[in-house]
Amino acid sequence: MFQITDFPEFSWSYSRHKMVTQCNRKYAYHYYVSHNGWLDSASAQSQSAYRLKKVSTLSMYAGQAVRQVITEAISDYTSTKLVPNERNLAEKVQQLLNNALRDSTDYGELWYHKPAQYKMLLEFYENGYISKKDLKDMQKRVHICVHHFLQSKSFCDIVSSPFLEVEPHQSFRSINVYDHKVYAPFHSLFKNPVTDEFTIVDWKISKQTKDDLFQLAIYALYVLAEYNISVDQIKVRNEYLLSGSARTYQLTLHEIEAVLQQVDTSIDYMKTFLEDSEVNQPLPLEHFPQTDTPASCHGCAFKELCQTG
Ligand code: SF4
Repeated sequence: MFQITDFPEFSWSYSRHKMVTQCNRKYAYHYYVSHNGWLDSASAQSQSAYRLKKVSTLSMYAGQAVRQVITEAISDYTSTKLVPNERNLAEKVQQLLNNALRDSTDYGELWYHKPAQYKMLLEFYENGYISKKDLKDMQKRVHICVHHFLQSKSFCDIVSSPFLEVEPHQSFRSINVYDHKVYAPFHSLFKNPVTDEFTIVDWKISKQTKDDLFQLAIYALYVLAEYNISVDQIKVRNEYLLSGSARTYQLTLHEIEAVLQQVDTSIDYMKTFLEDSEVNQPLPLEHFPQTDTPASCHGCAFKELCQTG
């Protein structure tokens, strides 16, 4: 049963790690100040942080929409064996983007009161409009991503290997690492029952970054724990949908141990921001410094809270 608690539950995820590294203050707003911000009795600051946490940039939202449509397309293919039509997939993504745009432009008042039920795009929130050029560019990117998805190594493998088992998509996968909940929200997982080999796939609409392998290795931790297999039975793969390229890796035990160490170090760092780690009570906000890299503020929805303290 849902219970109201003074502080949120502590958990670790790659996105949390990325945020605390990028800006301590943003991390505080997102993971602590926003807690209970959905309650009418919450402070104005907490309600604002909760609302702003729900705002996403057009590009972030388009990424979510592409991944949602891709995971649905894979699931549909496994039950129907019909290869989806490129135009239909692009239209589905476009429909989700149109809905977000409509929410942002027409239902701002409803979003303000129920931010979990309506979408708000940061560009619209900050400027009152989204330029036609940005929308057109995004439409082009969506088409490229969908086109590359249908030609991707992972999707072609599914189509050409009817025996491949596609594990159902789950949004909230987690494992226990050093007594902490660690989230592993990867997108697709396939098992080859002949070789007993698993392939974890992350569909990316962003460019390649140096942390991509770290993220995949966390997902591998989940598959190792959940399926009780050895590391050489797991392949991890990033499908870069904008460029149409894929990178597949075979991790070693040594790399897995290094990732566990990195997660442990990151948890220790997060805990330095706590007053009481038993209940995950954070230190006062002034202990979470603002980033000194102004570029990190671009695309951050918490600007208005930051300016007012
Ligand atoms: S606006 Fe900049 S300094 Fe403020 S929370 Fe966002 S990223 Fe951090």
